[in-house]
Amino acid sequence: MADASLNPYLRAQQAFKEAVDTLGLEPGVYELLKQPLRFYEVAVPFIRDDGTLQVFPGYRSHHNDALGPTKGGLRFHPDVNADEVKALSMWMTVKCALLGLPYGGGKGGIACDPEQLSEHELERLSREYIRGIALVIGPDKDIPAPDVSTNPQIMAWMVDEYSRIRGENSFGMITGKPLVIGGSQGRLEATGRGLVSAVREMARQVNLDFAKSRVAIQGFGNVGSVAAATAHDMGARVVAVSDKEGGIYNADGLDVPGVLAYKQVHRNVVGFPGAEPVSNHDLLELPCDILLPAALENVITADNADRIQARIVGEGANGPTTPEADQILFEKGVLVVPDILANAGGVTVSYFEWVQNQSRWYWTEAEVDERLHQMMGAAIEAMHEMHERYGVSHRRAAYLVAVDRIASAMRVRGWLK
Ligand code: GLU
Repeated sequence: MADASLNPYLRAQQAFKEAVDTLGLEPGVYELLKQPLRFYEVAVPFIRDDGTLQVFPGYRSHHNDALGPTKGGLRFHPDVNADEVKALSMWMTVKCALLGLPYGGGKGGIACDPEQLSEHELERLSREYIRGIALVIGPDKDIPAPDVSTNPQIMAWMVDEYSRIRGENSFGMITGKPLVIGGSQGRLEATGRGLVSAVREMARQVNLDFAKSRVAIQGFGNVGSVAAATAHDMGARVVAVSDKEGGIYNADGLDVPGVLAYKQVHRNVVGFPGAEPVSNHDLLELPCDILLPAALENVITADNADRIQARIVGEGANGPTTPEADQILFEKGVLVVPDILANAGGVTVSYFEWVQNQSRWYWTEAEVDERLHQMMGAAIEAMHEMHERYGVSHRRAAYLVAVDRIASAMRVRGWLK
Protein backbone atom coordinates (compact mmCIF):
# COMPACT_ATOMS: atom_id res chain seq x y z
CA MET A 1 0.00 0.00 0.00
CA ALA A 2 1.23 3.50 -0.81
CA ASP A 3 2.74 5.41 2.12
CA ALA A 4 0.30 8.26 2.75
CA SER A 5 2.92 10.31 4.61
CA LEU A 6 5.14 10.53 1.50
CA ASN A 7 2.55 11.09 -1.25
CA PRO A 8 1.19 14.64 -0.90
CA TYR A 9 -2.02 13.73 -2.76
CA LEU A 10 -2.88 10.95 -0.30
CA ARG A 11 -1.90 13.26 2.59
CA ALA A 12 -4.26 15.96 1.32
CA GLN A 13 -7.11 13.46 0.92
CA GLN A 14 -6.51 12.15 4.43
CA ALA A 15 -6.63 15.67 5.89
CA PHE A 16 -9.97 16.40 4.15
CA LYS A 17 -11.39 13.07 5.35
CA GLU A 18 -10.44 13.82 8.96
CA ALA A 19 -11.97 17.29 8.78
CA VAL A 20 -15.25 16.07 7.24
CA ASP A 21 -15.52 13.34 9.92
CA THR A 22 -14.68 15.69 12.81
CA LEU A 23 -17.26 18.22 11.67
CA GLY A 24 -19.82 15.45 11.09
CA LEU A 25 -20.56 16.70 7.56
CA GLU A 26 -22.49 14.83 4.87
CA PRO A 27 -20.26 12.28 3.06
CA GLY A 28 -20.78 14.12 -0.25
CA VAL A 29 -18.43 16.85 1.00
CA TYR A 30 -15.52 14.42 1.04
CA GLU A 31 -16.60 12.85 -2.26
CA LEU A 32 -16.30 16.29 -3.89
CA LEU A 33 -13.09 17.32 -2.12
CA LYS A 34 -11.06 14.15 -2.54
CA GLN A 35 -10.00 15.01 -6.10
CA PRO A 36 -9.91 18.08 -8.37
CA LEU A 37 -13.15 19.03 -10.10
CA ARG A 38 -11.13 19.47 -13.29
CA PHE A 39 -7.59 18.50 -14.17
CA TYR A 40 -5.81 19.41 -17.42
CA GLU A 41 -2.71 17.81 -18.86
CA VAL A 42 -1.21 19.58 -21.85
CA ALA A 43 1.76 18.95 -24.10
CA VAL A 44 3.87 22.12 -24.19
CA PRO A 45 5.89 22.21 -27.43
CA PHE A 46 8.52 24.89 -28.03
CA ILE A 47 11.52 25.50 -30.25
CA ARG A 48 14.95 25.32 -28.60
CA ASP A 49 17.60 27.88 -29.49
CA ASP A 50 19.26 25.26 -31.73
CA GLY A 51 16.05 24.99 -33.79
CA THR A 52 14.89 21.58 -32.46
CA LEU A 53 11.41 20.98 -31.09
CA GLN A 54 10.99 19.93 -27.47
CA VAL A 55 7.78 18.96 -25.70
CA PHE A 56 7.34 19.12 -21.92
CA PRO A 57 4.27 17.92 -19.97
CA GLY A 58 2.26 20.73 -18.39
CA TYR A 59 -0.60 20.62 -15.89
CA ARG A 60 -3.30 22.81 -14.42
CA SER A 61 -5.62 21.65 -11.65
CA HIS A 62 -8.90 23.26 -10.60
CA HIS A 63 -9.52 21.57 -7.29
CA ASN A 64 -12.68 23.27 -6.10
CA ASP A 65 -14.36 26.55 -7.09
CA ALA A 66 -17.32 26.68 -4.70
CA LEU A 67 -16.00 29.90 -3.10
CA GLY A 68 -14.86 31.59 -6.31
CA PRO A 69 -12.50 31.23 -9.27
CA THR A 70 -9.59 28.88 -8.65
CA LYS A 71 -6.27 30.47 -7.64
CA GLY A 72 -2.75 29.24 -7.22
CA GLY A 73 0.80 29.24 -8.50
CA LEU A 74 2.67 27.65 -11.37
CA ARG A 75 5.89 25.77 -10.73
CA PHE A 76 8.65 24.93 -13.18
CA HIS A 77 10.55 21.97 -11.76
CA PRO A 78 11.76 18.57 -13.00
CA ASP A 79 9.76 16.78 -10.27
CA VAL A 80 6.39 18.34 -11.18
CA ASN A 81 3.85 15.55 -11.72
CA ALA A 82 0.08 15.07 -11.74
CA ASP A 83 -0.25 13.96 -8.10
CA GLU A 84 1.89 16.81 -6.80
CA VAL A 85 -0.06 19.43 -8.76
CA LYS A 86 -3.37 17.96 -7.56
CA ALA A 87 -2.21 18.01 -3.91
CA LEU A 88 -0.88 21.56 -4.18
CA SER A 89 -4.24 22.67 -5.63
CA MET A 90 -6.02 21.05 -2.69
CA TRP A 91 -3.79 22.97 -0.25
CA MET A 92 -4.64 26.16 -2.15
CA THR A 93 -8.36 25.47 -1.62
CA VAL A 94 -7.69 25.24 2.11
CA LYS A 95 -5.45 28.35 2.23
CA CYS A 96 -7.93 30.51 0.32
CA ALA A 97 -10.90 29.38 2.42
CA LEU A 98 -9.00 29.83 5.70
CA LEU A 99 -7.95 33.36 4.76
CA GLY A 100 -11.50 34.22 3.71
CA LEU A 101 -10.48 34.92 0.09
CA PRO A 102 -13.22 34.67 -2.58
CA TYR A 103 -11.30 31.90 -4.36
CA GLY A 104 -11.10 28.17 -4.75
CA GLY A 105 -7.84 26.27 -5.12
CA GLY A 106 -5.82 25.78 -8.28
CA LYS A 107 -2.23 24.95 -9.18
CA GLY A 108 -0.19 24.20 -12.24
CA GLY A 109 3.24 23.51 -13.52
CA ILE A 110 5.56 22.27 -16.19
CA ALA A 111 7.89 19.30 -15.62
CA CYS A 112 11.09 20.95 -16.82
CA ASP A 113 14.44 22.12 -15.51
CA PRO A 114 14.45 25.91 -15.96
CA GLU A 115 18.18 26.06 -15.15
CA GLN A 116 18.84 24.27 -18.45
CA LEU A 117 16.86 26.83 -20.48
CA SER A 118 18.01 30.14 -21.92
CA GLU A 119 15.99 33.30 -21.27
CA HIS A 120 14.47 33.09 -24.77
CA GLU A 121 13.58 29.42 -24.35
CA LEU A 122 11.93 30.20 -21.02
CA GLU A 123 9.87 32.91 -22.68
CA ARG A 124 8.73 30.63 -25.54
CA LEU A 125 7.90 27.85 -23.08
CA SER A 126 5.87 30.24 -20.87
CA ARG A 127 3.91 31.58 -23.84
CA GLU A 128 3.22 28.07 -25.23
CA TYR A 129 1.93 26.91 -21.84
CA ILE A 130 -0.54 29.82 -21.79
CA ARG A 131 -1.72 28.92 -25.31
CA GLY A 132 -2.29 25.38 -24.09
CA ILE A 133 -4.48 26.39 -21.14
CA ALA A 134 -5.90 29.75 -22.36
CA LEU A 135 -9.44 28.42 -22.63
CA VAL A 136 -9.60 27.28 -19.01
CA ILE A 137 -8.01 30.30 -17.26
CA GLY A 138 -9.09 33.94 -16.89
CA PRO A 139 -9.76 36.59 -14.22
CA ASP A 140 -13.13 35.00 -13.36
CA LYS A 141 -12.14 31.37 -13.95
CA ASP A 142 -8.68 30.50 -12.73
CA ILE A 143 -5.84 32.89 -11.86
CA PRO A 144 -2.22 31.59 -11.85
CA ALA A 145 0.70 33.17 -9.94
CA PRO A 146 4.39 32.48 -9.20
CA ASP A 147 5.55 29.40 -7.33
CA VAL A 148 8.79 27.39 -7.32
CA SER A 149 11.18 28.77 -10.01
CA THR A 150 8.68 31.15 -11.59
CA ASN A 151 8.86 34.92 -11.12
CA PRO A 152 7.40 38.31 -12.14
CA GLN A 153 9.11 38.22 -15.57
CA ILE A 154 7.46 34.88 -16.38
CA MET A 155 4.11 36.30 -15.23
CA ALA A 156 4.71 39.28 -17.57
CA TRP A 157 5.21 37.02 -20.63
CA MET A 158 2.14 35.05 -19.66
CA VAL A 159 -0.14 38.09 -19.23
CA ASP A 160 1.13 39.41 -22.55
CA GLU A 161 0.41 36.13 -24.35
CA TYR A 162 -3.06 35.85 -22.83
CA SER A 163 -3.83 39.49 -23.66
CA ARG A 164 -2.79 38.93 -27.30
CA ILE A 165 -5.04 35.87 -27.54
CA ARG A 166 -7.98 37.83 -26.07
CA GLY A 167 -7.27 41.00 -28.02
CA GLU A 168 -7.42 43.10 -24.84
CA ASN A 169 -5.22 43.85 -21.83
CA SER A 170 -6.29 41.38 -19.17
CA PHE A 171 -4.05 42.13 -16.19
CA GLY A 172 -6.32 40.34 -13.69
CA MET A 173 -5.67 36.93 -15.31
CA ILE A 174 -2.45 36.35 -13.35
CA THR A 175 -0.83 37.77 -10.19
CA GLY A 176 2.73 38.32 -9.06
CA LYS A 177 3.32 40.60 -12.06
CA PRO A 178 5.94 43.37 -12.24
CA LEU A 179 4.64 46.65 -10.74
CA VAL A 180 4.63 48.48 -14.06
CA ILE A 181 2.00 46.16 -15.56
CA GLY A 182 -0.41 45.87 -12.65
CA GLY A 183 1.64 44.15 -9.96
CA SER A 184 0.98 45.01 -6.33
CA GLN A 185 3.23 46.77 -3.86
CA GLY A 186 4.41 44.26 -1.29
CA ARG A 187 3.66 41.10 -3.34
CA LEU A 188 7.30 39.95 -3.47
CA GLU A 189 7.68 40.38 0.29
CA ALA A 190 4.19 39.09 1.15
CA THR A 191 4.98 35.49 2.09
CA GLY A 192 7.89 36.39 4.41
CA ARG A 193 5.97 39.26 6.03
CA GLY A 194 2.83 37.14 6.41
CA LEU A 195 4.90 34.43 8.05
CA VAL A 196 6.26 36.84 10.66
CA SER A 197 2.83 38.40 11.17
CA ALA A 198 1.22 34.97 11.82
CA VAL A 199 4.00 33.79 14.12
CA ARG A 200 3.99 37.03 16.12
CA GLU A 201 0.24 36.75 16.71
CA MET A 202 0.50 33.09 17.71
CA ALA A 203 3.46 33.82 20.02
CA ARG A 204 1.26 36.20 21.97
CA GLN A 205 -1.06 33.28 22.74
CA VAL A 206 1.76 31.41 24.49
CA ASN A 207 2.97 34.58 26.22
CA LEU A 208 6.09 34.87 24.13
CA ASP A 209 7.08 38.40 23.17
CA PHE A 210 8.18 38.14 19.53
CA ALA A 211 10.28 41.29 19.85
CA LYS A 212 12.38 39.64 22.60
CA SER A 213 12.63 36.20 21.00
CA ARG A 214 15.51 34.31 19.38
CA VAL A 215 14.66 33.24 15.83
CA ALA A 216 16.37 30.58 13.66
CA ILE A 217 15.50 30.49 9.96
CA GLN A 218 16.22 27.70 7.48
CA GLY A 219 16.27 29.13 3.97
CA PHE A 220 17.34 32.60 2.88
CA GLY A 221 15.42 32.93 -0.38
CA ASN A 222 12.32 34.97 -1.05
CA VAL A 223 10.59 33.83 2.14
CA GLY A 224 13.46 33.34 4.61
CA SER A 225 15.37 36.54 3.80
CA VAL A 226 12.24 38.72 4.04
CA ALA A 227 11.23 36.97 7.29
CA ALA A 228 14.73 37.60 8.70
CA ALA A 229 14.65 41.29 7.77
CA THR A 230 11.12 41.73 9.16
CA ALA A 231 11.92 39.90 12.42
CA HIS A 232 15.11 41.95 12.82
CA ASP A 233 13.22 45.23 12.25
CA MET A 234 10.78 44.21 14.96
CA GLY A 235 13.63 43.80 17.44
CA ALA A 236 13.82 39.98 17.50
CA ARG A 237 17.26 38.37 17.68
CA VAL A 238 17.84 36.38 14.48
CA VAL A 239 20.42 33.84 15.71
CA ALA A 240 20.75 31.64 12.60
CA VAL A 241 19.99 31.64 8.89
CA SER A 242 20.97 29.28 6.09
CA ASP A 243 20.74 28.67 2.37
CA LYS A 244 21.45 25.66 0.12
CA GLU A 245 25.19 25.86 0.86
CA GLY A 246 24.86 25.87 4.68
CA GLY A 247 24.11 28.16 7.60
CA ILE A 248 25.55 30.69 10.06
CA TYR A 249 24.92 31.04 13.79
CA ASN A 250 25.54 33.71 16.40
CA ALA A 251 23.84 33.26 19.78
CA ASP A 252 23.91 37.05 20.34
CA GLY A 253 22.07 37.71 17.10
CA LEU A 254 23.24 38.18 13.51
CA ASP A 255 23.65 41.56 11.86
CA VAL A 256 20.78 40.88 9.41
CA PRO A 257 21.30 43.91 7.12
CA GLY A 258 24.96 42.84 6.93
CA VAL A 259 23.98 39.26 6.00
CA LEU A 260 21.60 40.55 3.30
CA ALA A 261 24.38 42.67 1.79
CA TYR A 262 26.86 39.76 2.07
CA LYS A 263 24.46 37.44 0.24
CA GLN A 264 24.13 39.98 -2.60
CA VAL A 265 27.88 39.85 -3.16
CA HIS A 266 28.68 36.18 -2.38
CA ARG A 267 25.36 34.61 -3.52
CA ASN A 268 25.13 32.68 -0.22
CA VAL A 269 25.46 33.33 3.50
CA VAL A 270 28.33 30.92 4.24
CA GLY A 271 31.49 32.65 5.49
CA PHE A 272 29.72 35.71 6.88
CA PRO A 273 32.16 37.21 9.43
CA GLY A 274 31.25 37.14 13.12
CA ALA A 275 29.24 33.92 12.97
CA GLU A 276 29.91 30.20 13.38
CA PRO A 277 29.09 27.81 10.55
CA VAL A 278 26.16 25.45 11.11
CA SER A 279 24.70 22.80 8.81
CA ASN A 280 21.12 22.98 7.57
CA HIS A 281 20.44 19.86 9.60
CA ASP A 282 21.89 21.19 12.89
CA LEU A 283 20.27 24.60 12.50
CA LEU A 284 16.88 23.03 13.23
CA GLU A 285 18.08 21.83 16.65
CA LEU A 286 19.72 25.08 17.83
CA PRO A 287 18.61 26.75 21.06
CA CYS A 288 15.99 29.32 19.98
CA ASP A 289 12.40 30.34 20.73
CA ILE A 290 11.08 30.37 17.17
CA LEU A 291 12.12 28.13 14.30
CA LEU A 292 11.09 29.06 10.76
CA PRO A 293 11.70 26.29 8.21
CA ALA A 294 11.42 28.28 4.98
CA ALA A 295 13.19 26.09 2.46
CA LEU A 296 12.45 22.45 1.71
CA GLU A 297 9.70 19.99 2.53
CA ASN A 298 10.03 17.05 4.96
CA VAL A 299 12.91 18.54 7.01
CA ILE A 300 11.32 17.97 10.44
CA THR A 301 10.79 14.23 10.70
CA ALA A 302 10.31 11.51 13.32
CA ASP A 303 14.14 11.41 13.52
CA ASN A 304 14.75 14.97 14.72
CA ALA A 305 11.39 16.27 16.02
CA ASP A 306 12.28 15.31 19.56
CA ARG A 307 15.43 17.46 19.48
CA ILE A 308 13.71 20.65 18.33
CA GLN A 309 14.25 23.24 21.08
CA ALA A 310 12.01 26.00 19.73
CA ARG A 311 8.66 26.71 21.39
CA ILE A 312 7.14 27.71 18.05
CA VAL A 313 7.67 26.30 14.58
CA GLY A 314 6.37 28.59 11.80
CA GLU A 315 6.13 26.74 8.48
CA GLY A 316 7.27 29.14 5.75
CA ALA A 317 7.84 26.22 3.34
CA ASN A 318 5.08 23.92 2.14
CA GLY A 319 5.07 20.64 4.05
CA PRO A 320 8.33 20.96 6.07
CA THR A 321 6.95 18.75 8.87
CA THR A 322 6.02 15.11 8.26
CA PRO A 323 2.76 13.86 9.88
CA GLU A 324 4.76 11.74 12.39
CA ALA A 325 6.90 14.73 13.39
CA ASP A 326 3.77 16.86 13.66
CA GLN A 327 2.39 14.44 16.23
CA ILE A 328 5.66 14.42 18.22
CA LEU A 329 5.77 18.23 18.30
CA PHE A 330 2.10 18.39 19.35
CA GLU A 331 2.76 16.00 22.25
CA LYS A 332 5.86 17.97 23.28
CA GLY A 333 3.75 21.13 23.43
CA VAL A 334 5.56 22.87 20.55
CA LEU A 335 3.20 25.28 18.83
CA VAL A 336 3.23 24.62 15.07
CA VAL A 337 1.94 27.46 12.91
CA PRO A 338 0.85 25.37 9.89
CA ASP A 339 1.95 26.15 6.32
CA ILE A 340 -1.62 26.67 5.10
CA LEU A 341 -1.76 29.71 7.40
CA ALA A 342 1.92 30.62 7.80
CA ASN A 343 2.72 30.97 4.08
CA ALA A 344 -0.70 32.22 2.97
CA GLY A 345 0.54 35.83 2.83
CA GLY A 346 1.54 35.29 -0.81
CA VAL A 347 -1.90 34.35 -2.07
CA THR A 348 -3.52 36.99 0.14
CA VAL A 349 -1.53 39.79 -1.50
CA SER A 350 -2.21 38.10 -4.87
CA TYR A 351 -5.88 38.64 -4.04
CA PHE A 352 -5.13 42.32 -3.34
CA GLU A 353 -3.34 42.53 -6.69
CA TRP A 354 -6.36 41.05 -8.51
CA VAL A 355 -8.73 43.47 -6.70
CA GLN A 356 -6.49 46.38 -7.75
CA ASN A 357 -6.47 45.12 -11.36
CA GLN A 358 -10.25 44.75 -11.45
CA SER A 359 -10.82 48.22 -9.96
CA ARG A 360 -7.81 49.94 -11.64
CA TRP A 361 -7.08 51.62 -8.31
CA TYR A 362 -3.65 50.93 -6.83
CA TRP A 363 -2.77 50.81 -3.14
CA THR A 364 0.28 51.96 -1.18
CA GLU A 365 2.60 49.44 0.43
CA ALA A 366 1.34 50.54 3.87
CA GLU A 367 -2.26 49.77 2.82
CA VAL A 368 -1.22 46.34 1.55
CA ASP A 369 0.66 45.52 4.77
CA GLU A 370 -2.15 46.73 7.01
CA ARG A 371 -4.78 44.63 5.17
CA LEU A 372 -2.48 41.59 5.07
CA HIS A 373 -1.99 41.82 8.82
CA GLN A 374 -5.76 42.19 9.33
CA MET A 375 -6.62 39.14 7.21
CA MET A 376 -3.96 36.96 8.82
CA GLY A 377 -5.32 38.03 12.23
CA ALA A 378 -8.89 37.05 11.31
CA ALA A 379 -7.72 33.63 10.02
CA ILE A 380 -5.79 33.02 13.24
CA GLU A 381 -8.84 33.87 15.31
CA ALA A 382 -11.05 31.45 13.36
CA MET A 383 -8.41 28.72 13.59
CA HIS A 384 -7.95 29.29 17.30
CA GLU A 385 -11.68 28.98 17.91
CA MET A 386 -11.75 25.52 16.22
CA HIS A 387 -8.59 24.54 18.13
CA GLU A 388 -10.34 25.27 21.43
CA ARG A 389 -13.69 23.80 20.44
CA TYR A 390 -12.32 20.45 19.16
CA GLY A 391 -9.04 20.21 21.11
CA VAL A 392 -7.07 19.47 17.92
CA SER A 393 -3.74 20.79 16.59
CA HIS A 394 -3.71 24.14 14.81
CA ARG A 395 -3.16 22.39 11.47
CA ARG A 396 -6.30 20.28 11.96
CA ALA A 397 -8.17 23.33 13.23
CA ALA A 398 -7.20 25.26 10.07
CA TYR A 399 -8.68 22.45 7.96
CA LEU A 400 -11.88 22.55 10.03
CA VAL A 401 -12.34 26.28 9.37
CA ALA A 402 -11.68 25.85 5.65
CA VAL A 403 -13.75 22.72 5.08
CA ASP A 404 -16.69 24.17 7.00
CA ARG A 405 -16.67 27.26 4.73
CA ILE A 406 -16.27 25.29 1.49
CA ALA A 407 -19.04 22.85 2.54
CA SER A 408 -21.40 25.76 3.28
CA ALA A 409 -20.74 27.20 -0.18
CA MET A 410 -21.27 23.83 -1.87
CA ARG A 411 -24.49 23.31 0.16
CA VAL A 412 -26.10 26.64 -0.75
CA ARG A 413 -25.04 26.19 -4.36
CA GLY A 414 -26.96 22.90 -4.38
CA TRP A 415 -23.95 20.63 -5.03
CA LEU A 416 -24.64 18.25 -2.18
CA LYS A 417 -28.12 16.98 -3.11
N1 GLU B 1 2.38 29.95 -5.03
C1 GLU B 1 1.91 30.62 -3.85
C2 GLU B 1 1.23 29.63 -2.93
O1 GLU B 1 1.43 28.44 -3.08
C3 GLU B 1 1.05 31.83 -4.18
C4 GLU B 1 -0.19 31.53 -4.96
C5 GLU B 1 -0.90 32.80 -5.44
O2 GLU B 1 -0.41 33.87 -5.18
O3 GLU B 1 -1.94 32.63 -6.09
O4 GLU B 1 0.57 29.99 -1.98
